[in-house]
Amino acid sequence: MNEMNSNRKIIHIDMDAFYASVEQMDNPELRGKPIAVGGSENRGVVSAASYEARKFGVRSAISGVLAKKYCPELIFVSPRFDRYKEISAKIHKIFRDYTDLVEPLSLDEAYLDVTQNKKGNPSASLLAEEIRTRIFNELGLTASAGISINKFVAKIASDYNKPNGQKTVNPDEVIAFLEELPICKFYGVGKVTTEKMYQLGIFSGLELKSKSQEFLEKHFGKSGSFYYNVVRGIHNSEVKSDRITKSVAAEHTFDVNLSSEIFMAEQLEKIANTLERRLKKHRVSGKTVTLKIKYSDFSQQTRSKTLPYFISDKGLIFETVKELLYQERMKDSVRLLGISMSNLNTEVKKAVVVQLKFAF
Ligand SMILES: [Mg+2]
Repeated sequence: MNEMNSNRKIIHIDMDAFYASVEQMDNPELRGKPIAVGGSENRGVVSAASYEARKFGVRSAISGVLAKKYCPELIFVSPRFDRYKEISAKIHKIFRDYTDLVEPLSLDEAYLDVTQNKKGNPSASLLAEEIRTRIFNELGLTASAGISINKFVAKIASDYNKPNGQKTVNPDEVIAFLEELPICKFYGVGKVTTEKMYQLGIFSGLELKSKSQEFLEKHFGKSGSFYYNVVRGIHNSEVKSDRITKSVAAEHTFDVNLSSEIFMAEQLEKIANTLERRLKKHRVSGKTVTLKIKYSDFSQQTRSKTLPYFISDKGLIFETVKELLYQERMKDSVRLLGISMSNLNTEVKKAVVVQLKFAF
């Protein structure tokens, strides 16, 4: 049976007026002014508005003509998507210091599953705060966050204390939060659906909850069962990471090329130590050990061995890589050595159900 799962900790991060904020950051003369990214005063559509412009009713998706009418002082700026992508990549780099389970919704929004995180911090609220502080300190931009047990509630919550704020909906608050929620605030309920809900006498979560699944399906099709579940706190959609760690590696380039295998072994032992640390950080182990050799003429060679079991211990890594080292003679002196671990237990790990103490 479908039940509310309170064991997950999900953060939804949403950058504040992202495109407009980037333009204001890069062009100091635009700061504090009402600006619209995209469109112009006689054509096109606004894709983002600064908070100064929003006060006048300028927002994304309205026409440039209308925007100029609302706010005669409005400054139109051409979008620079390469720049937004560049900053988005930096934001994602910060996210991945916390978790690899990051699902982007757009350049400026993402879900993070921090149930298990790289900081070992059980408080998703504190993590969200830390992430927002880092985004501000390192990139000069503000972000808002919603924190809860699933993506649906986290997404709605990130809007509550915007801009530059965050809201946590604790597991024991989820049901009341959804019951009190105006129906137009439900994620996935747009203008048309809102109207239809109103006509059916549904104005808030509480009224939505009073309707049977059959009733909702009859009026909203497949979405009906979605509404039926989310208002009960049931939304088990996983945070779908755009990049799953496939391998973890460590390598070292030498100041002086090495020609003695004894020295190489010494270096590999150090690299194995580093690799062990990284594997621990990612909480993974692997079956396949690969030795990478770059010779002084820059040619490259790899040698691999797959074990019948998962390892992450530096001693075992070193034993395996030593075997690979002595497997055949080096064809030249060596300028770089690396060890990577692949065939990771990421999938296995997912199947293990971990019951964590739930501190939000
Ligand atoms: Mg945003």
